[in-house]
Formats: sequence, C-alpha cells, structure tokens
Amino acid sequence: MNKQLLDHFYDREIECPICKMKFTTKKVRTSAIRVIKRDEDFCPYYKSENPLFYNVFVCPNCGYAALESTFSKINELEKEKIVKFITSRWKQRSYGKERNLEEAIQVYKLALICYQVSKSKYINIGKVCLRLAWFYRYMNDEREKEFLKFTIDAFQNAYTKERLDKEEYNEVVILYLLGELNRRVGNYKEAIKWFDKALSNPDIKKKRHIEIRAREQWRLAREEYNNKKNLQIERSNENDFSKH
Ligand SMILES: [Zn+2]
Repeated sequence: MNKQLLDHFYDREIECPICKMKFTTKKVRTSAIRVIKRDEDFCPYYKSENPLFYNVFVCPNCGYAALESTFSKINELEKEKIVKFITSRWKQRSYGKERNLEEAIQVYKLALICYQVSKSKYINIGKVCLRLAWFYRYMNDEREKEFLKFTIDAFQNAYTKERLDKEEYNEVVILYLLGELNRRVGNYKEAIKWFDKALSNPDIKKKRHIEIRAREQWRLAREEYNNKKNLQIERSNENDFSKH
C-alpha cells in the first residue's frame, strides 16, 4: 500500500453500545473526497475514495451494524433484539479495513438486517436501501431496481408514519425522492403524483435546488408517461389490425 492511499483514511475508535467492545473503523478524510457528479436521486460519483462505503459501523464482536448517524442511538428493546437474532449467529469478523464495493454491499446489508430485526424507523431502512441501490447502479447490476422499490416502500411508510423534521432527509426531500425513485422504476403516474406533492409543500420554497429539480423531473416523468401511453395505443392498434 503506498503512502498516498494510506493518507486518504484515518481510524475512528468506536465503542459498541451493545457489547461495549472498542474497535476501529476507517473513515475517508474530507480532503480526499472529490465528487464528480450526482444523479437526480443524489447518487454521488467520486474521483477516488467513496466515503459512503464507510458510513456503516460494524462491531466485529457482536455483529451489530448501523449507519454512523444512528449507531449509538439504540434503546434497550432494540439491543435485546440484536443480541437474540444477530449476535447468536455472528461469527467474529472485522470490516475495519478499507472496503471495496462488494464489502460495502455486505456491511449495508448487515445494517439493513439489524434495522429490520430491531424494528428501527422506516427512514433508516429507506436510507440503507437507497445506498444499496446506488451501489448496484455503480456495478450496472439489475438488483438496483429491486432496492429502489424497497426504498420507495420504506420512504412511503416514513412519510405517513414518522416525524421527519429532524432527519437529514426532511419531508420535502422525501416527497421529491418518492417522485424520482418512482420515475426510475417506470411508475410514471406515481412519480407525477409525488412530484406534485413535493411542489405543493410550502417548505419547498426554502429548498430552491429541490424545487428546480422537482419541476424538471416532473416534466420528464410526464413526457415518459405520455410516450408509454402512445406506445400502448400503437400496440393496441396493431392488435386490432391483425384481427382483420
Ligand atoms: Zn458489539
């Protein structure tokens, strides 16, 4: 390993809130993060290191895994569930070194399982699923669509059942993402409905960049919806013709 690459990372010491073991996990230095571009669902592309790969912490001892933002915020009931369903099956292994894409997918799937067994908030489940969809997009893997659909389900539940005002993705962002993710999986009618909700939400005025994107993507979804409808009309005309 050359020095330059080593300099991109530093070690964070973490204490597991469940088994109390101390372990280290890699983080990417801010100075090493270069975003080249972002897709309309915010999927980022990086010139070198991808900091997203390191946003899940995994305890090597008990198998507890979660997003950095929620790792230490776990209550007694959730702890019990992790010990019962995760630790009992966990074989000790560490994800504390540099991670490649495949390992990033593994740690996000571990976090997803932990969130599911501990019945965590839908917003956390949605965020993990969205990142998994992005990781599969990096690979041109069709499992991307599957995880986009899981994200839609989770965000829809988060929107109807949870308070989002203190979250990184607040209500307007979730409404916008529900539009964009539905568009990406080809549910154009749903996409238009969610973009409409985003645009009629009064808070969108405070998020000018989201408002602009929502208008552009709404137009795109409309276009795609009309194209799909025209195609269906053409097909049904062809079918009518073939009957004669
Ligand atoms: Zn632990």
